[in-house]
Amino acid sequence: MGRYLGSVCKLCRRVNDKLFLKGERCDTKCTLDKRKKKTGGKPTRFVKKTSEYGKRLTEKQKARFSARMNEDQFRNLFKQARKMKGSPGQNLLYLLETRLDNVVKKMGFAQSMIGARQMISHGNVKVNNRNLKVPAYRVRIGDKIVINPKLKENIGLKRWRENYTRIPTWLTVDKENLSGEIISLPSRADFSYPVDETLIVELYSR
Ligand SMILES: [Zn+2]
Repeated sequence: MGRYLGSVCKLCRRVNDKLFLKGERCDTKCTLDKRKKKTGGKPTRFVKKTSEYGKRLTEKQKARFSARMNEDQFRNLFKQARKMKGSPGQNLLYLLETRLDNVVKKMGFAQSMIGARQMISHGNVKVNNRNLKVPAYRVRIGDKIVINPKLKENIGLKRWRENYTRIPTWLTVDKENLSGEIISLPSRADFSYPVDETLIVELYSR
């Protein structure tokens, strides 16, 4: 199954892009920068001309690493996207955006996807009054998210929350009570995965 346990910034290097899997770490300690510094900004072995296939593969990996999914899980998500009405690429972005882990992050309760995943799997996230340990849970309109009040005094999270201003319009957040609600579903402009989804569709359509 290959759950990836090494340094997360190795994944940044694999796709030659900062993935911010642990949040701010990529601002200061990303392997990608170290590598660039060493070579004086010259192209390195991972900044090479890539084939069309290579570009598509990298784009898919970027999305998959960002979502912390293995290949089977990601492929299944794509199958699901293809079965839905409309464009498979847009559907894929929609499915990624509406996962519980992404929502916890978007609400500003966690600094990164890894942080959000941990919060959920440790049982610190309630959805509609029930503990839910499923990061892949797909949120619906009206869902109420509440974070364990015990986490309120966590200094790192507190500072992050207070400075966090990027809450999307499809979510509302009550920072004081560590709660939030899904008030509408995200549309195209809200999709936040930094990938070109058409490349992923091309990859899987061959
Ligand atoms: Zn990084």
